[in-house]
Amino acid sequence: MTSTDTPPRRSIVIIGAGIIGCSTAYYLSRHPSFSPSTTVRVIEASINGPAQGASGKAGGLVAQWAYPKELVDVSFAEHVKLAKKHNGKERWGWRYVETGSWEGRALLGEGSGSGVGKGGKRKSLEKTLGLNPDISEWDRKSKGLPDDLLWVRDSLTDSYSPMAATGETAQVHPYQFTTSMLDLAKEKGVEFVSGKVTSIKQLDGQVTGVVYTKLGTQEQVEIHASDIILCAGAWSPSLVPGLPITGTRAHSITIRATPGTIITPYALFTEITLQQAGKNVKRVTPELYARPDNEVYACGPGDDSALPETVDDVQVDEAACESIRKHVSFISKELSEGTVDKRQACFLPIVKYNSDPLVGAATKIANGLFIAAGHTCWGICNAPGTAKAISQLVMDGKIRCGNLKKLDPSRFS
Ligand SMILES: Cc1cc2nc3c(=O)[nH]c(=O)nc-3n(C[C@H](O)[C@H](O)[C@H](O)COP(=O)(O)OP(=O)(O)OC[C@H]3O[C@@H](n4cnc5c(N)ncnc54)[C@H](O)[C@@H]3O)c2cc1C
Repeated sequence: MTSTDTPPRRSIVIIGAGIIGCSTAYYLSRHPSFSPSTTVRVIEASINGPAQGASGKAGGLVAQWAYPKELVDVSFAEHVKLAKKHNGKERWGWRYVETGSWEGRALLGEGSGSGVGKGGKRKSLEKTLGLNPDISEWDRKSKGLPDDLLWVRDSLTDSYSPMAATGETAQVHPYQFTTSMLDLAKEKGVEFVSGKVTSIKQLDGQVTGVVYTKLGTQEQVEIHASDIILCAGAWSPSLVPGLPITGTRAHSITIRATPGTIITPYALFTEITLQQAGKNVKRVTPELYARPDNEVYACGPGDDSALPETVDDVQVDEAACESIRKHVSFISKELSEGTVDKRQACFLPIVKYNSDPLVGAATKIANGLFIAAGHTCWGICNAPGTAKAISQLVMDGKIRCGNLKKLDPSRFS
């Protein structure tokens, strides 16, 4: 074990450089009481740096209709402010998107997997011959398809319905947002440390520091900490055993549509009924998020794969990625002709008992220990609110940005 450093006045350690840890580093570095005598270190276990887990592989939807409401109310407004202050449009792809629920069918084994339904062929023939030119327009309208949503096959659409009003849903590129938060925090003096934290030290009910293994070595290092913020996502219980957090693996892909194709900004929650020989054989529900530069992110269902030792050990099941690609290609010609750039998997951190994330002080375990973990499917949306609240709790002793009592970790024994 090497050096325990001389304790400075305030030494804050953040465990985990996902979106929660990196955003917390940012908000601490912008807190009015932050000064050069405050040390903030973000320790990350991935050899590849920050945002290698769910925070780099999520969809990136930021919605006023997300949950829990108390956290969303703070977070959405903070996302807007951050984007304005740091040019989020260029830096992390911040923009507003339309969101809708899309239902339709795909015909397996017909049209060589293209999923083109009979109606589609009829309509295109009518169009070619100049007959009934308005039928397709009428058909689209009756299904609720917006005029500018042209990258899903209208012939396979049963219905489309908007899920929120314009302006209520936005998006970020999660990897770019997370790494930007860290870079902006580093500009103010926050340090990034490559290491896997192996234990949290405490004495007489007060945290005193952490021990971590330097990546690529066996070397154990102990550093002093007056405050420790646990932001290790699904891995959080490995450092605080008994925390009611688990992880579910989910796969996703990104597809780049061919140049010249116009992919308008929609997030689609789909329900596709796969049909074969006139029978419904399966229902699949990939989510599709259009991103700037003609990229579309698509994710599939979770599975019960066990949480591996670190984020770098997460296995990607190629078959799971391929099935997302196939399902998405059925319903979109533009995506079927595009190039798959990424095939990936990550672990969604979930609080057991269908509960809200844990955001607050873990006084039942030790003074100076804070937990910000278990953000389920809204961690990208809720990172700024979580980070702002935790930075206030650490620096001022209380959360001032909203009433987040229901997220207090001490609700669990
Ligand atoms: C398929 C999918 C799509 C999603 N889409 C959206 C979306 O559109 N909008 C939205 O709001 N949310 C979305 N989410 C949810 C969101 O991704 C997560 O809630 C969020 O990323 C969790 O962030 P985190 O920082 O808590 O965890 P993580 O991103 O998992 O980060 C935890 C970090 O801690 C590190 N770590 C773990 N143990 C240690 C240790 N001992 N020492 C040091 N470091 C350690 C890990 O290596 C990792 O980097 C999605 C999730 C999935 C799976």
